[in-house]
Amino acid sequence: MTTSVRTKVFVAALSAAALSLVVVAILVAWDGRSRERTQIQGRLTTEATLIADLLAQADHLTTVAQLDAEADRLARTIEGRVTFVAADGTVLGDSEQTPAELRQLDNHGTRPEIVAARETGLGVSQRFSTTVDTEMIYVAVRAKHPTVAFARLALPLSSVTSQLASASTASVAALAAAVPVALIVAWLLSAPLARRAERIARIAERYAAGDVSKPAYDYGEDELGTVARVLDTSVQQLGQRIEELTRDRARTEAVLSGMVEGVLVVDRQGRLQLVNGAARTMLAVESTAIGRPYLEVVRDPDVAAQLSAALSGATPESRELSLIRDPGRTFVARATPVATTGGAGAVLVLHDVSDLKRADQVRRDFVANVSHELRTPLTVIRGYVEALQDDPGGSSAPQFLDTIARQSTRMERLVADLLRLARLDARQEPLDTSRCDLDALCAAVVADLQRAFDAKQQRVTVTVAPDAHTVIADQAKLHDVLRNLLENANNYTPEGASISITTTAAGGQVHLEVSDSGPGIPPEDLSRVFERFYRVDKSRSRPGGTGLGLAIVRHLVELHGGTVRAENRPEGGARFIITLPA
Ligand code: ADP
Repeated sequence: MTTSVRTKVFVAALSAAALSLVVVAILVAWDGRSRERTQIQGRLTTEATLIADLLAQADHLTTVAQLDAEADRLARTIEGRVTFVAADGTVLGDSEQTPAELRQLDNHGTRPEIVAARETGLGVSQRFSTTVDTEMIYVAVRAKHPTVAFARLALPLSSVTSQLASASTASVAALAAAVPVALIVAWLLSAPLARRAERIARIAERYAAGDVSKPAYDYGEDELGTVARVLDTSVQQLGQRIEELTRDRARTEAVLSGMVEGVLVVDRQGRLQLVNGAARTMLAVESTAIGRPYLEVVRDPDVAAQLSAALSGATPESRELSLIRDPGRTFVARATPVATTGGAGAVLVLHDVSDLKRADQVRRDFVANVSHELRTPLTVIRGYVEALQDDPGGSSAPQFLDTIARQSTRMERLVADLLRLARLDARQEPLDTSRCDLDALCAAVVADLQRAFDAKQQRVTVTVAPDAHTVIADQAKLHDVLRNLLENANNYTPEGASISITTTAAGGQVHLEVSDSGPGIPPEDLSRVFERFYRVDKSRSRPGGTGLGLAIVRHLVELHGGTVRAENRPEGGARFIITLPA
C-alpha cells in the first residue's frame, strides 16, 4: 500500500501535536506537583509552628490520652494529621491513631523529619505512608513542652494526583481538538507540496514518453527540488546520449542503405542483426528476418558456408558465386569475423560483379570479332598476292588485283568504323548542333546514294511532315545516320524494292523513319542488330559490310539524346525509327 504525501504530512502533524500535548501535560503535572508540595510544606510549617506555640502554653496536658485527644482536636482544625513525639522518639499522640494503637507504633526518633527537627528545629520529609497508604509530606518542629519534644504535621499529596488526572483529561481533550487542527495544517502544508510532486511526476511521465526537452518548471530550493533537479540533469544527459546514438544509427543506416554492396551482420549465435537493402534484394531476405538464425533465412549454401567459417573465427577467401535464385548474376562474397553486441559475430559483404563480368565478356567478344573480321580479308589478300607472285603476268592478274583492292577497302572501312566507335566511346566526337532542314538533308543523302539505288532500280520517296521539317541536331552526324540506314535498305532489299523516308512530329519529338519493302529482320534479331558485329545472316551480309553500321547509328542517335529501334512492317520489310528531341 502506498501512502500519499498528504497522509504522511497529516500523520506527522498529528504526532507532533500529540507529542507536544503529552510533554505539556507532563510538565504541567510536574510543575503543579512541585508547586503544591511547596505550598503544603509552607502551610504545614506555619501550622506546625503554631501548634508548637500552642503546646508551649499547654503544659497541663501530660498524659498520652490527653495529648492524643489534643492531637485529634488540632487535626480536625487544620485538616491534616497531627503527631506529638517525645524527645526519645515515642509517639505521644497521633490524630490517626487511638491511644491503644499508639503503644504499638514504632519509635519515631529516626524518622527523617524528626532527625532534621532535632538538629535544625525544622524537618521536612516526603514519603509513602504505609499507615495511611498514601504519599505524604511531613513537617516536624521542636516544641517547648514538658513531654512533647516535636510536633509533626502531615498531609497527603492526593490533590497533586487529582491534578495530574485532570491534566491528562485536558490533554486528551486537547488531542481531540488537535485532530481537525492537524488536518487543516496538513491540508495547508501538503497542498503546495502535493502540487509540486504532481508537476514533477508529469515531467517524469513526459520523459518516459520520450520527450526529453528541458522543462520550464522551477523545482524550488528544498530537498524535493534538489532531488528533482539531479534526476532532471541525469535525464537530460541520457537524452543527449540517446540523441547522439540515434544520429549515429541514422547515419550508419543511411550509409548502409545507400551502399550498392549487400551487407549482412550476424551475432555469435548466428542470428541476423542487420541486413541492408541491397543484401535484402540479393538474398531475398525480408526485413522481418532480423533476429532469426541466418541458416533459416539465407538459403544459399555458398553464402551460408562463408558465414559459418567467419563465425568460427576464420577469415575465408572471398569467393565468386552465383546465387541459386538468380544464376544470371555473379557476386563476390567475403565474410569476416567482427565484434558485435553480445560477442564475436560475422559480417558478410556481397559485391555484384555481374556488370563487370559482362563488360569483360563484351571486350573479349569484341577482340575476337575484330580479329576475325580482319583475318578474313587478310587471308584473301594474302592468297591473291601469293597467286600474283607465282604468275605475275597471268591473265587473271587484273581480277586478282581488283579483289585485293576490294578487300583492302573493306579493311580500311572496318578500321575506320572501329576508330569512329572508339572515338564515340571516348566521347571524342562533340555535338555541333544547329537547326537542320530535314527536306534538304534527306535530299542530300538520297542524292549521295542515287547511283546505288538506280543500279538496283529502287525507288526512294521522301515525305516530310510540315511540322517536322526541322530538327536541332548535328547535321553531319544526322547525315551519317540516314546514309547508313539507306545504305542498308539498298543493300538488304532486292531489286525494284521501294524505300521511303518519313518524318513526323509528336509529343515534342521528331520521328525519322526509314522503311523498305525488303525481307525484313527476324523478330528475335530485332533488338540485336544494333550490337557490334551482329549480322542476321552472314551469307546475306553485303560483301563490304562491317557489321558496325547500326552500332554507330545507335551511338550517334543517343549522343543527340534520342533513341533508335528496328521493327518489321506488317506489309513486309524493315523499318528503322529514330526519335529525336525537337
Ligand atoms: P552491316 O555493315 O553488316 O550492314 P549493320 O550494323 O549496318 O552492319 O547491320 C547489321 C545487320 O542488320 C545486317 O548485317 C543485316 O543483317 C541487318 N539489317 C540491317 N538493315 C537491314 C534492312 N534494311 N533489312 C534487313 N536486314 C537489315
